[in-house]
Amino acid sequence: MSTQEPNQFQTVDEAKAAIARQLQPVSEHRCVAIRDALNQVLAEPILSPIDVPSHDNSAMDGYAFSGSSIEPAGLTKLQVVGTALAGNKFTGSVGTGQCVRIMTGAVMPNGCDTVVVQENVSSPENGFIQFAPGAVSAGDNRRLKGEDLTQGKPALPAGKVIRPADLGLLASLGVPEVKVKRTLRVAFFSTGDELRSLGQPLDEGCVYDSNRYTLYGMLRRLEFVEPIDMGVVHDSPEALEKAMCEAASQADVILTSGGVSVGEADFTKTVMQKLGAVNFWKIAMRPGRPMAFGQITNPADGRSAVLFGLPGNPVAVMVTFYAFVRDALHHLAGAQPRPLPTVTARLAQGVRKKAGRTEYQRVWLERDAQGWVAHLTGAQGSGVLRSMSEADGLLVLHHEQGSLNAGDLGEVWPFEGLI
Ligand code: AMP
Ligand code: MG
Repeated sequence: MSTQEPNQFQTVDEAKAAIARQLQPVSEHRCVAIRDALNQVLAEPILSPIDVPSHDNSAMDGYAFSGSSIEPAGLTKLQVVGTALAGNKFTGSVGTGQCVRIMTGAVMPNGCDTVVVQENVSSPENGFIQFAPGAVSAGDNRRLKGEDLTQGKPALPAGKVIRPADLGLLASLGVPEVKVKRTLRVAFFSTGDELRSLGQPLDEGCVYDSNRYTLYGMLRRLEFVEPIDMGVVHDSPEALEKAMCEAASQADVILTSGGVSVGEADFTKTVMQKLGAVNFWKIAMRPGRPMAFGQITNPADGRSAVLFGLPGNPVAVMVTFYAFVRDALHHLAGAQPRPLPTVTARLAQGVRKKAGRTEYQRVWLERDAQGWVAHLTGAQGSGVLRSMSEADGLLVLHHEQGSLNAGDLGEVWPFEGLI
């Protein structure tokens, strides 16, 4: 791990790159029924065991026939010789000038390559239909065997986080079970003598511990993670060392909040560095400037975990989670990196910003005729959790960007996506 001079700032991108260099994805996997694979990380690529669809079939309700029967200039008249239903094939033969009534999904009868949709033909009279030139071209409305997937070809790549469409795709291939990566164990605790847990009286000068709740919420949304709540740890070297060792034994990743800012960092640093290699960073970002990152080992059993020492301020803990931890957890879980979805929004008001650091402002979004509009959610202090709760997303003001005016475009990370 690169060591860093004290007081040296690094950019968000440099910190991300330094983190990515340290991470080894989990290798163990488990076999699950496909429903249990939802939101889990696929451990091996899935090759299609069959052609999908398995036969040429009709894409529409209509009449199937050979395209060579089409009269290019005048009316085409065809004799109806049978019916093909989905799941109930027409087994007879269809000659020139003949057709078969066919329903969507039914296997194309032998000799047929074209379907004219029922809306484009006259209603059958004396067993014949007719249609005008241009109603259909040869080959129309036919789905080809293997058009969706060919047998033996990759259907899903390893590392994919399984979504609803993937469950359907697996079912369409007849695959009942898949191998997914084992869940990633993430232990988290809060540090600070001023913190009280729910149910305790709020003594003077104390605050309720909210970070364990936001962290729990964000972790739960990554369903390949098993969150392990380790409570509040008091500001003493012994308590911190004990908690760190317990967490390293149980978990792949440890998230702490609080205790990494200047002044507080001293004993945190001594403990973390005693147990492993941990860097204390000052990141050119707001909120979220102080952050520790590294790896620690419990000397009693030799078990190690990746450590993120997040700042204590309630907004900063969320912002650093989204900026660094989310991607790192994907990587550790063996998931393919996916960029965060972003929306471009016009700013409803100007935002002051200094070039040379990345800023994350909380915004609510509105849609007008021109697109998305982003409004700041009031006071943006890094302790103001309400600014986060009222927000629909984070407006990301990039490192090199300066102040923006009302009407300028900005990039927003929305909290919600399509499920
Ligand atoms: P620290 O980084 O420990 O200096 O904490 C910075 C600020 O965040 C202080 O005002 C703390 O009281 C507050 N804080 C730290 N941890 C938590 C927490 N778990 N829940 C709520 N506020 C916290
Ligand atoms: Mg503290």
